[in-house]
Amino acid sequence: MMRREGDADGGRRSVGANLFGTSEQSPASVLIQEGDEVQQPAKEYCFESYWNPPDLTDHALALRELRLDPFFHRIAPDAYNGYVNGSLNIGREAAEKYVGQDPAGLAVQLGAHIAYGDCRMEVAGQVVRSEYDSGMRAITVYLPSAAEVEERLETGLLRSILSSACRKEWLRPGLIVDVHVAHELFHHLEATCIGRTDNRLPLVAMQVIGPFAIGTTRVRKCREIAAHAFVKELIRLPFLPNAFDILAQ
Ligand SMILES: [Zn+2]
Repeated sequence: MMRREGDADGGRRSVGANLFGTSEQSPASVLIQEGDEVQQPAKEYCFESYWNPPDLTDHALALRELRLDPFFHRIAPDAYNGYVNGSLNIGREAAEKYVGQDPAGLAVQLGAHIAYGDCRMEVAGQVVRSEYDSGMRAITVYLPSAAEVEERLETGLLRSILSSACRKEWLRPGLIVDVHVAHELFHHLEATCIGRTDNRLPLVAMQVIGPFAIGTTRVRKCREIAAHAFVKELIRLPFLPNAFDILAQ
């Protein structure tokens, strides 16, 4: 999944392209935002002395996703928590009665069709790993793209955080495909049952001129945050799945 979300607002095709987006940022730099206090390295070089492990809490990962919204700059800082917590709760509640179920079996049971593409899909230069077509009620997962994530997780930051035994146990075959099916299953639930997450959270101004707010828009990334929370609960992941953005680097 690319840095930017590929979901089409108002369209019927939802593209879960950025779930595991490639990034040119370092693991540490992705967590440092403008205005944050940056800790200086110790004078004597010692890697462990200034290495900060990534913050994989739900709140940090959800805020990381929110920051990718094209209208994030229109959200007042004191409203961040409302969007983050509201979205996380919607995803968790949606997963409550399905926890531990097989995502593909559940998707079929809930009326979705699943297709597995054997090609590597790109839209506007961004890798697409999965998508949901609400008109066709169809989930598509592109297997070569999912395999790329698995390969990167084998050699990326995850390797330095988890022991080989833990990685083997946790990164079971098919996990990444399950994560993508579950992600799109949440969008299927939005389309057929619970409604769009971003419709349930406050709108933001598209433009502000002086004291006037011109037009309003939904905060689309709320849908992704809720989908991440749904996936985490359903599959019982240790963290929101957008953590793979960090762990696969
Ligand atoms: Zn999505």
